Amino acid sequence: MRYRSTRSGRETDLLTAVMRGLADDGGLFVPVDLPHFDPGSIAGDTLAEIAAELLQPFFSGSPLESDLRAICDDALDFAVPLQRLRGAPDPLAVLELFHGPTAAFKDIGARFLAAVMERALPLPGDDDRPVTILVATSGDTGGAVAAAFHGRSRLRVGVLFPKGQVSARQQHQLTCWGGNVRSFEVAGSFDDCQAVAKAALMDPALSRRYRFSSANSINLGRLLPQVAYHAASSLWHWREAGTAAGHIVPTGNLGNGLACVWARAMGMPIREIVFAVNSNLTIPEYLSTGKWGPRPSVRTLASAMDVGDPSNMERLFDMLPDFAELRATVQAYPVDDDAIRAQIRQDDERFGQVWCPHTATGFRVYDQLAEAQRADRPWIVCATAHPAKFESITESVTGHSVPVPDSLQALLARPSEHISIRADIDALGVELDRWNAEFA
Ligand SMILES: *Cc1c(COP(=O)(O)O)cnc(C)c1O
Repeated sequence: MRYRSTRSGRETDLLTAVMRGLADDGGLFVPVDLPHFDPGSIAGDTLAEIAAELLQPFFSGSPLESDLRAICDDALDFAVPLQRLRGAPDPLAVLELFHGPTAAFKDIGARFLAAVMERALPLPGDDDRPVTILVATSGDTGGAVAAAFHGRSRLRVGVLFPKGQVSARQQHQLTCWGGNVRSFEVAGSFDDCQAVAKAALMDPALSRRYRFSSANSINLGRLLPQVAYHAASSLWHWREAGTAAGHIVPTGNLGNGLACVWARAMGMPIREIVFAVNSNLTIPEYLSTGKWGPRPSVRTLASAMDVGDPSNMERLFDMLPDFAELRATVQAYPVDDDAIRAQIRQDDERFGQVWCPHTATGFRVYDQLAEAQRADRPWIVCATAHPAKFESITESVTGHSVPVPDSLQALLARPSEHISIRADIDALGVELDRWNAEFA
């Protein structure tokens, strides 16, 4: 399989697309052709088995083609259950994507990317320097990336997080690793962290000393396994019920959303696709007006979806350049903070289930679908994070705590350590050199 940039159309191979993340021309990599499957031809049962079959065409011709099964087994080694919601009047299920090491669905993409990169190295002609991944984080991504890359050979991760702006539990997940992961607390905002990371990646002097890469959510290596979980859940439902379910997908940067669109385009039995967003209205406004209006993000309770300029929209525009066709393919509805709180409270009472604020947007959207869209029609809502990750919100809304999953508990019990730096590239450079010297 070849991959091309959404901008220049220039083509490259899988490993280059994954190691670069972003094309040189600023575009995003997309497969030259999306493969197509007959759902009945897929034999696998577990997520890892289905992923290995479905992603085979994406790896064909790559040096990692024969490693794909091992990559899937390595990365997708935790439960991703599709649970029927008892007590719902119409067929409704929740796809729990939060049983990974950091209790959020980003574990799936980050672990797959790490498993691919580890096996891809060394690239032909490489020297033996490790690859240093720099990740700026406002909370969740950094933890998932650190967990996914921890202990992997030839790879190091530098996490940059804004001082005083992540929750105590989030900070712990960013700083409890050691070894090939180092955490930098930056005196500044998330935007400052991002600016420092970007400046480092582009700095000629630092780039001579380090081989940098990134693990952004636009990386193909994170997107591909997300296609697999949408495919797997659609197949599990279809095999049991003989029908195609609609999928409701909480999304922000549109990684989760676009992956579902790809899964359906690849032939998976997905009836309708509905994006649930928070008060960042760029996508639903576009679908109702036809005008694309990216803007600064606004802060909401579903903070991991606070995106005003969703990057992956570029891939969706590339796939469906015709507005009428795009609008016939996906729907999107917004959910504000009051509705998020109300939904968490209501479903705790109704189903005895506490949702994280992101997942709550999905169930709100479900409840607001027209009666005819729900009656006897099966739906699957993606649950993107465990509620215990957002305990300050869920506890204040429901009045009770939720048990912390064992994997998260284990992280919270690890000692934590970080280095504080100024928000500038020289400060980061000094620390990277010091870190490097410790390995020498
Ligand atoms: C990142 C994230 C999302 C949104 O994912 P996108 O890829 O931006 O669509 C939703 N929920 C949680 C918990 C997340 O961490």
